[in-house]
Amino acid sequence: MKSAQLLPCPVFIGGEWIRPKLAGTPVYNPSTGDVISECPLGGSAEVDAAVEAAAAAFPAWRDTPVIERARLFFRYRHLVEDNFDRLCASISLEHGKTLVESRGSLYRGIENIEYACGAPSLLFGSTLEDVARNVDCETCLQPLGVCAGITPFNFPAMVPLWMFPLALACGNTFVLKPSEKVPLTALLLAELLEKAGLPKGVLNIVHGGRECVDALLAHPKVRAVSFVGSSPVAKYIHETGTRNGKRVQANGGAKNYIVVMPDADIPRSVEALATAAFGCAGERCMSGSTAITVGKAAHTVVPQLVDAARSIKIGRTDTPMSQPDMGPLVTAAHRERVRGLVESGEKEGATIACDGRDAKVADAPNGFFFGATIVDKVRETMTIAREEVFGPVLNVMRMDDLDHAIEVANRSAFGNGASIFTSSGAAAREFKHRVKAGMVGINVGVPATMAMFSFTGWDASFYGDLHIQGREAVQFYTQQKTVTTRWFGGVTEDVWRK
Ligand code: NAD
Repeated sequence: MKSAQLLPCPVFIGGEWIRPKLAGTPVYNPSTGDVISECPLGGSAEVDAAVEAAAAAFPAWRDTPVIERARLFFRYRHLVEDNFDRLCASISLEHGKTLVESRGSLYRGIENIEYACGAPSLLFGSTLEDVARNVDCETCLQPLGVCAGITPFNFPAMVPLWMFPLALACGNTFVLKPSEKVPLTALLLAELLEKAGLPKGVLNIVHGGRECVDALLAHPKVRAVSFVGSSPVAKYIHETGTRNGKRVQANGGAKNYIVVMPDADIPRSVEALATAAFGCAGERCMSGSTAITVGKAAHTVVPQLVDAARSIKIGRTDTPMSQPDMGPLVTAAHRERVRGLVESGEKEGATIACDGRDAKVADAPNGFFFGATIVDKVRETMTIAREEVFGPVLNVMRMDDLDHAIEVANRSAFGNGASIFTSSGAAAREFKHRVKAGMVGINVGVPATMAMFSFTGWDASFYGDLHIQGREAVQFYTQQKTVTTRWFGGVTEDVWRK
């Protein structure tokens, strides 16, 4: 059903908010199934206008003293905090996260603004005197020019905030293309940056799907592309962008393993596992989607997990009045995909220990709800073991020993996160040393990195060389210039002696 009044979804180009006359795609309130907006599907004309605006804004922005750029982000940080509730309501409305989850994700986004405020320190270069007689050498970091960001549906504020604050603080200008499923929160973020005093054209927003992305990847003035989304698209973006001579960092999907050893603190492990698997309705790249129980751990872990899953209250997240433990999935189509994967597990011989497929919410019969689900006795060859589910579905695999658990985790195509719950330092050490994943947790369910650390996915979870966030992102958004200097003359011509 269409809401009576659709929320506007303009593009933001050269400091102007423009409502393009283009065909659009519906944006839903996943709690009710209502259409709340229409996201215009832009192409090369919109991308060209946005990139040209960003290119025109670049010289003045690059020459703005770094301390002034940083001050702007201090102001921005305060504005985001002042508008915290409004932003969280928007995230929950268009994505379906609970308000608690929206708040958590926005705090993570704010940490990225805070990191960008450190630009004067982050952009320090280095000097070495006397590399030859009277010759000095210095390296400085300079911005690239126009950078682009393409973001997924699952974190409408946090993932864009992984990208544009640091890119801009480094002196670049930026074109953001948010997910067409959740385009509204990104517009609020841009509105606040405009209020903080950002000059026109420094940040631009275009909307669309593949055509829009392809136009960004082909545009000769785009120097670098940051991407977050599914692995097949990440691979495509990396291949196409690099072929076109751009720097590319592309985060992909994931399948994260959480090993529970028999000596673990079982109640705390179960609590962490339930949060890792069902938090954000499983729609996060660091969700703990597979529990591997070792030895007798299964006997206590599985029944306790089932109890925890059954106690999760699902409901609508679009009003502050009713805040459940878990909200809906993003679209009806995505819910059907998740359902299909659970059914494939059942057909291929797994046991459905907790079944959320028929979950209903009384006051929102058309919402895209899917209850917490546990698929037990999953084997490595099953479809549900190999494919990213991206829903509130926890696979359980039962193993005899840690070696076997590590081998299975290491055969995954992905390499984002992996965790172990144990009270043994030796087991934890073995796991962290051998496991093939870029972010490792020890008695931590979701080892997602904070802004000052890079988001170090491996294998099909990342395509590129320099990761998003932290030091590597500073390198990604800058190029080094090395200057070698010699001054002729010397002390006899010293001007200060006069
Ligand atoms: P998606 O790959 O479908 O879309 C991501 C972006 O790419 C969107 O802006 C979309 O418009 C664009 N896009 C989609 N198909 C395209 C195509 N064929 N060609 C060019 N562009 C295309 O991902 P999604 O469903 O929005 O997000 C969920 C995925 O993102 C999951 O796989 C999740 O694991 C992943 N993710 C990864 C991380 C990480 O840091 N590794 C973080 C968040 C989400």
